[in-house]
Amino acid sequence: MKVVVAGGGIAGLTAADALARAGADVVLAESGTSLGGKVATERVDGFTIERGPDSFLTLRRAALELARDLGLGAEVAPPKRPADVFIWHRARLVPIPAGTGLGIPTRFVPFLRSPLFSPLEKLRAAAEVVVPPDRTSEDVAIGTLLRRRFGDAVVDRLAGPLISGIYGLAIDELSLDALMPRLRDALARHGSLVRAGLAARAARRPAPAGPEVVTLRRGMGSLVDALASRLRADVRLGTALESVERSGARYRVRLGDGTRLDADGVVVATPAAAAARALEPVAPAASDALRTIAYRGTAAVSLGYDERQLRRPLAGHGFLVPDGALPIAACTWTSSKWSDRAPEGAVLVRATIRADGLLRHGEDDLVDVAHRATALALGIEGAPLMARTAIWDGAMPRYTVGHLERLARIDAALGVLPGIALAGAAYRGTGLPDCIAQGQAAAQEILSRETKDERAASGIRLRRSSERTDHARGEAASLSRP
Ligand SMILES: Cc1cc2nc3c(=O)[nH]c(=O)nc-3n(C[C@H](O)[C@H](O)[C@H](O)COP(=O)(O)OP(=O)(O)OC[C@H]3O[C@@H](n4cnc5c(N)ncnc54)[C@H](O)[C@@H]3O)c2cc1C
Repeated sequence: MKVVVAGGGIAGLTAADALARAGADVVLAESGTSLGGKVATERVDGFTIERGPDSFLTLRRAALELARDLGLGAEVAPPKRPADVFIWHRARLVPIPAGTGLGIPTRFVPFLRSPLFSPLEKLRAAAEVVVPPDRTSEDVAIGTLLRRRFGDAVVDRLAGPLISGIYGLAIDELSLDALMPRLRDALARHGSLVRAGLAARAARRPAPAGPEVVTLRRGMGSLVDALASRLRADVRLGTALESVERSGARYRVRLGDGTRLDADGVVVATPAAAAARALEPVAPAASDALRTIAYRGTAAVSLGYDERQLRRPLAGHGFLVPDGALPIAACTWTSSKWSDRAPEGAVLVRATIRADGLLRHGEDDLVDVAHRATALALGIEGAPLMARTAIWDGAMPRYTVGHLERLARIDAALGVLPGIALAGAAYRGTGLPDCIAQGQAAAQEILSRETKDERAASGIRLRRSSERTDHARGEAASLSRP
């Protein structure tokens, strides 16, 4: 069976690996010059710098299991303590009150003591228990739901920075159904999110064994290196997928280097816009729906300092910035969060800037913006010793209201094309475990086509499978970026 996988990010690599290990003849076409997509680690002057993800959730098993399967089990490392995260409020760093689950207060005393809110704002938040639940079944923005229940202050200063920090998009745009469907379920059951939180605490489910989020000691790039060295495929770098057409029962795949390949299956693990272009000839309706998935830019600016430049040692994992309060959205204290990220006597932090059209700014400008904001918040004197910027311009998929409905349109259009599967951050979860699970599910979908074809050829009646693996319930419950 011949399969073309397009896109050499973590989703495409995982799909290619699963297909090749099942015996398929795989061509992996990646338009860039290296594998891994957003997963990349650099080493500069003794600093270990992540251009993209620095960690992954363990509750969703796919990333942890893949790391172990690749022999990286001993590399898996927990975050350091203390794990406090702060909010930039009134020109100082205020700790997030204990018991705040994704911005929803579930412990009264820390919330009542927090200087983040005025007495009136606390009273408004407490009134959540008597706000009648919204009975509409239509998708809404997470921000819309939370504003109605807790008031604006909790959303602007707590839930907004936390949830936007995870999904990289303003809370007033993010789809409730795609990202946090459990909030709707909890409301339906308990009539109040505070009551639901209290009930969950009272149920005292045993804490999961081990940390909820982990990294790899030598950086996330080691996951890509291990996958790439295991991969038995014809890997073509600098080669974009251009188009997919039908060719009898197979597909004709055109690549950017002019090659035409006939394949039994195609996994498209590129960003949605590239998938839309490539699938236009074979699935115009899917292509239209793919074009409606929006993207936004992010820059991750890593800054190294001598620890003597800081007013006081960093104790915690970083801070989040309510919308517009500083020109950065968050700052991870990388060397306080993970071991072995900075040389002796130095600290490493990473500021996140979210904006469109980032490539219009030079790297120096972004470093300047990130350094000024970080220096103001942390009391840093002097210039950074080291600065590296990863610009992901228009590269972060946005799960806006209606996301699941868009996915349903894409699935319906592709459902009639056995042997074509999509995977990656644009669809059913942006976190690494979700992207890996999608890559594996796409491989299974292609492989099951062969089984079905064989059975059909041998006269066995097939039950039509309309079901695709659903990873949409992608609550990154505790992926606290920073
Ligand atoms: C700054 C940052 C921090 C993050 N932090 C975390 C974190 O801590 N934890 C976590 O779980 N997740 C995190 N994420 C999210 C996660 O890293 C991404 O969602 C995930 O890596 C996306 O993988 P992917 O394979 O879907 O896409 P990508 O990595 O974008 O890969 C897609 C690939 O397709 C290629 N391509 C494009 N067009 C074509 C074409 N026509 N033909 C062939 N190839 C093409 C691209 O060059 C790219 O290599 C972070 C992301 C960023 C940017």
